[in-house]
Amino acid sequence: MTLKDKVAIITGAGSGIGRATAIKFVEEGAQVTAADINAAALEDLAKNYPEMEIVTGDVTNQSDTVRMVTQTIACFGRLDILVNSAGISARNLGPEVNFEERWDAVIEVNVKGTMLMSHATVDSMKSNGGGCIINLGSIMSLVGYPTTLPFSDGFNPYPTSKGAVVQFTRDMAVRLASESIRVNAICPGFVYTALTEKVTEIPEVHETLCKLHPMGRLGEPAEVANIAAFLASDEASFVTGAAWTVDGGYTAQ
Ligand code: NAD
Repeated sequence: MTLKDKVAIITGAGSGIGRATAIKFVEEGAQVTAADINAAALEDLAKNYPEMEIVTGDVTNQSDTVRMVTQTIACFGRLDILVNSAGISARNLGPEVNFEERWDAVIEVNVKGTMLMSHATVDSMKSNGGGCIINLGSIMSLVGYPTTLPFSDGFNPYPTSKGAVVQFTRDMAVRLASESIRVNAICPGFVYTALTEKVTEIPEVHETLCKLHPMGRLGEPAEVANIAAFLASDEASFVTGAAWTVDGGYTAQ
């Protein structure tokens, strides 16, 4: 598997799965733009990976998404791969954010952000003769939020947002197949990142979470990045419209 000579932009690259994916892509020979709303996190990444282009921007803002893509093409001359890893969970929003604002914020970043970034890249991929988009869904794209965890009152926007990401993936895959643009989603189980810290740091919740995954553990960001690299590579040339689980068996139950 190699991504040699391919150009990728990865959102959410300042942390967790996006960061691990940016690193994996560089290791596989890709030229990478690491994008995130968090400038300090990107600068930290660039200390170890100076070959990466970094760009700060908000995926929910259309002019930012266009700027991030334009900067990538200006730097590397083309764009082959988009990984939409920027995402948030309602549990990480502060107590000052009310019920309705939580719903809006999660849908805005996870759904609208994925759509705007994809919209900003597609024309360039078409003119290159093809490309690849990878969206971060979740096991919560496919099943409901477990009742044994906090935030399981049925009004959690996260599963709805991730369900929309998978359906967006399928619709884009169908529409763009004739343009040789493959669009896939990765649906991870619980992975150790900043996004899940608030639940994994509580020992009894952590234990419950581990038991929910048949493999008896949570995932590491690199285990998701490995699948992103495969899906972005030419070895996945006949894979499009898939919701690829990376979940230690969670959704197999
Ligand atoms: P993370 O919190 O570690 O990283 C997310 C990154 O997205 C952060 O660097 C953050 O600054 C960035 N971001 C947030 N809002 C943004 C915006 N508006 N514009 C640009 N960047 C923004 O999270 P993670 O766990 O690495 O999650 C990555 C993706 O994987 C998310 O879409 C998440 O929903 C999904 N996912 C995570 C898990 C998990 O257990 N960690 C499981 C399933 C799916």
